Amino acid sequence: MDLRYHSTRGEGKEYKASEAILKGLADDGGLFVPDQVPVLDKTMKELSSMNYRQVAYEVMKLFFTDYTEEELKACINNAYDEKFDCPQIAPLVKKKDAYFLELFHGATIAFKDMALSILPHLMVTAAKKNHCDKEIVILTATSGDTGKAALAGFADVPGTRILVFYPKGGVSPVQELQMVTQKGANTAVVGIRGNFDDAQTGVKVLFNDKELAASMAEAGFQFSSANSINIGRLIPQVAYYVYTYAKLLADGEIADGEKINAVVPTGNFGNILAAYYAKLMGVPYAKLICASNDNKVLFDFFSTGCYDKNREFILTTSPSMDILVSSNLERLIYRIAGNSADVDAEMMKKLSTEGRYEITEAMKAELADFYGNYASQDETAAKIGQVYCEEGYVLDPHTAVAAAVYDKYRGETGDTAKTVVVSTASPYKFVRSVIPALDPANCGMEDFAMIDKLEELSGVKQPKAITEIRGAKILHDKVVDRTEMKQAVLDFLGM
Ligand SMILES: *Cc1c(COP(=O)(O)O)cnc(C)c1O
Repeated sequence: MDLRYHSTRGEGKEYKASEAILKGLADDGGLFVPDQVPVLDKTMKELSSMNYRQVAYEVMKLFFTDYTEEELKACINNAYDEKFDCPQIAPLVKKKDAYFLELFHGATIAFKDMALSILPHLMVTAAKKNHCDKEIVILTATSGDTGKAALAGFADVPGTRILVFYPKGGVSPVQELQMVTQKGANTAVVGIRGNFDDAQTGVKVLFNDKELAASMAEAGFQFSSANSINIGRLIPQVAYYVYTYAKLLADGEIADGEKINAVVPTGNFGNILAAYYAKLMGVPYAKLICASNDNKVLFDFFSTGCYDKNREFILTTSPSMDILVSSNLERLIYRIAGNSADVDAEMMKKLSTEGRYEITEAMKAELADFYGNYASQDETAAKIGQVYCEEGYVLDPHTAVAAAVYDKYRGETGDTAKTVVVSTASPYKFVRSVIPALDPANCGMEDFAMIDKLEELSGVKQPKAITEIRGAKILHDKVVDRTEMKQAVLDFLGM
């Protein structure tokens, strides 16, 4: 079947998967969605004997229908290889209350690697297929993890350049060091005086700048987006939700057809939307539990039906979830509005002019698949301490938000269905929050001393992503105001 993509805001054009991946964002500012979410054509039993790459192919072939089998398998094999430090790619760790799905075994030890290790290959293949003769310029705003994962994915990939904006002071020291030491002649990293939403809004403005697009085209460049709005990031994430179910079945942890829950630490709503797509594809997920930190816009949205970003932005210990505008939520809004581009466009317009919108009662009724809650920073730290004490297992703060929200969910509902907690980062990436949560006596240590301490306490060896930044040279030190982002792009491209 030939699956096409269209914008959530109704510009009316149809795109092949490869075109949507190349464009990133639709011309009308909307996000690309498939005309329909395909249903798996293999049973869970069949999938349960497959490895990660094979499951990934079974998922992606249904969405990326204009890629040949050979092209898609080449992309998958190039992505999910020895860059990951374990052959399962996404291992499941069974603990007392839940299964932890560890998505942090890639090059940059956060779950963004799951999609960003394949996106460059999908994009370069898409460029070839569409006879695109321009150099692809990836422009990305990051709350910490996307930036490094995108840099690692695109560094030295021929025919591409990548510029990453991050909120100066809004990411962890390890995250910042990972980015500013990035090698590769086609890479640039620029700090913004502002928060993540400033950086993300700035990037959106640049993407919609027609004048800039025209002068770039003349100079032989074309923008694309590696942010989680790109369908080429969303779909590869669906794969691990399918793989997880198949693996639990293969391991005899669940019966075929048994419903399970997933708890997802959420920021931009990409990861949990992938879980929702897996459910729509036919995987027996019951509740999708959306875990937020103190920036609890989504919790409020699920409880009231009103999305309101007019509030204080809080810098927390889980910075990759410090987000007030969850871009991928637009795909859900579109769907619960009965695939109505008019309703979606109207709500997104309200969001940009008034900073808030309210969904209808009928739309609210469509949200039954989801449960939302949040964990404060104290609750998050307490959860890290508790899980370490009881199980000797160290959670990063993002995963700990999810685990704490799962406790609240069980307390409220009494639901005992088997549950997967999605583990989005290695604790090594956030030692400044993790180490004091394990033992307050260690507060005053330097970051790398904390890293050594974590190795001692957890018994888990320091990953390569950490050892390689120790003593690495700083290659990017530019910091600009948000009004200077356009100039930073022009400078980078030598225009
Ligand atoms: C990006 C990120 C998240 C949030 O994921 P979304 O897809 O933006 O909801 C959570 N945890 C970590 C560690 C991340 O890097």
